[in-house]
Amino acid sequence: MVHGPTAGSPVPPSAAPKDLPSVDRLLRDVAIAPLVAAHGHHFVAVQARRLLDNWRRLALDGALPAARLARLPQALESQCAARLAPRMRRVLNLTGTVLHTNLGRAVLADEAVQQVLACMGSPNNLEFDLALGARGDRDSLVEDLLCEITGAEAATVVNNNAAAVLLGIAALAGGREAIVSRGELVEIGGAFRMPDVMAAAGATLVEVGTTNRTHARDYEAAITPRTALLMKVHTSNYAIQGFTASVSEAELAPIAHARGLPLLTDLGSGSLVDLAQWGLPAEPLPQQMLADGCDVVTFSGDKLLGGPQAGLIVGRREYIQRIRKFPMKRALRLSKLPLAALEATLRLYLQPDRLTRDLPTLRLLTRPVADIEAQAARLLAPLQSALAPRYAVRVAAMRGQIGSGSLPVETLPSAGLAIAPQLPGKRGMGRALEELMTALRDLPLPVVARVQADELWLDLRCLDVSGAEAELLAQLPQLKAALS
Ligand SMILES: *Cc1c(COP(=O)(O)O)cnc(C)c1O
Repeated sequence: MVHGPTAGSPVPPSAAPKDLPSVDRLLRDVAIAPLVAAHGHHFVAVQARRLLDNWRRLALDGALPAARLARLPQALESQCAARLAPRMRRVLNLTGTVLHTNLGRAVLADEAVQQVLACMGSPNNLEFDLALGARGDRDSLVEDLLCEITGAEAATVVNNNAAAVLLGIAALAGGREAIVSRGELVEIGGAFRMPDVMAAAGATLVEVGTTNRTHARDYEAAITPRTALLMKVHTSNYAIQGFTASVSEAELAPIAHARGLPLLTDLGSGSLVDLAQWGLPAEPLPQQMLADGCDVVTFSGDKLLGGPQAGLIVGRREYIQRIRKFPMKRALRLSKLPLAALEATLRLYLQPDRLTRDLPTLRLLTRPVADIEAQAARLLAPLQSALAPRYAVRVAAMRGQIGSGSLPVETLPSAGLAIAPQLPGKRGMGRALEELMTALRDLPLPVVARVQADELWLDLRCLDVSGAEAELLAQLPQLKAALS
């Protein structure tokens, strides 16, 4: 069957391949000179070749409107700009999950960002002791801060908490046995499952107890001359409820120490301040774990701590020393960028009264619901007028999450805007929601929201009142245009 032009919609005449200039000729065009001056000949030539290849294919199909040829310089400029547009971008997190792993987890404090900016464009004293004028250790940039905050004797840092756990097990139990309760053989996400980590670290996992109940005598009975480590894993991303029993660090430490064995706890989140003081669900603190007798505690830098991706390892000097000297440490070491951010973040913890103001993670987690409700009320009319008549907007109570596996059983009371497509029935509902979500993601500052039943929910907990709220408002005309 032959498709011809339909009557009433005349197809514009197509340019022929021979009408297109060569790459060289295009690059000599005076209109292209500013592009070449800005980006150099090589880059512009590569983009020009791609653009001309595309257009040549269209021309061969008779699908390149001849009028488009005059706009070749502009098309090349757009293509150059698109190729150079950053892939990693800011977004507005309106999902209601404060520590959203897909959205970069913790947002850094201003001071942490400033420290990165101040040190990264120049040489710095990453491993240089300025007092002695001699080679230093990068750990020393944060070790005393971690010790002061947690009460540990020593501390070291690696790339993330998964690395901290792997390194801790390898250094303390490689070639020997590590005892873990069956109730704590967690999968954290991705390929990080405790039995596999044990194997990768070269340790033999000895499981004790059952899924729901493990007793002190289970650990005692499993200790043999081959045992090198007792380990606890904080079950941060799920909860076992009902008929349960587990052995706390405080009970387990004397059992380990009586046999000369270390006790390692993987805390995961590792909040450094008691969240219960703000009415949030309590998380175990590294400082408490150490006071309870743990020899080594590992936790993340970018979960509740509110800093960069990092794995923090604190504890008794002899074990931290073994971990630091273990060859794998070199492969897992923390880079200077997160180290700068981590140092600045930890300095905020020396001034705990500032945390809920200056550390974004804690500022967002402790935001009063009344504040979020007031923000929702402010945004209702502007959003409604941008989305009418296709969508209706209402203020709604919502429940968000801390995120990153923290306390998934608990939700955070929040508020926001619930947006419903205005359709006579359910037909087309999915498409209307999809279209709105896409339009939000296509904004210059993309907005990420979540679908809840047949509505799109914008949870406002993470929309900072100073700055981000105005940025959202400023984009509403574009949103309106995209949907009309
Ligand atoms: C999140 C988590 C990890 C992994 O930490 P990352 O910093 O993401 O590598 C390990 N163990 C527990 C219990 C966790 O919650």
